[in-house]
Amino acid sequence: MHITEFKSWKHNKEQATFSKFITDRVMAKINHLKSKQFYYCHRSYSYRKKGSDIREIKSMGTNKIGGVCPSMLKVTILKCDETEKVHVKYWKTHCGHP
Ligand SMILES: [Zn+2]
Repeated sequence: MHITEFKSWKHNKEQATFSKFITDRVMAKINHLKSKQFYYCHRSYSYRKKGSDIREIKSMGTNKIGGVCPSMLKVTILKCDETEKVHVKYWKTHCGHP
């Protein structure tokens, strides 16, 4: 898919799971045409703007099995002419939230 499609797809997933996919490292460049990046599910993303909801979100983030959500994205970006094509492998199993 195109990189703009990927961005809106990722945004939709974040909205649906009340979380955010974050990356903790810079994009690994494999060669001049290919790079790879991992995104991890980060649940403390405050999807609601109201201050009164902050406590609720924090309690949601306290997970009985350690608080780590195993869902992640492995993203490979291929440069093709002037466009960037994105391949996504998606581990969709979330822990402790939708
Ligand atoms: Zn998750």
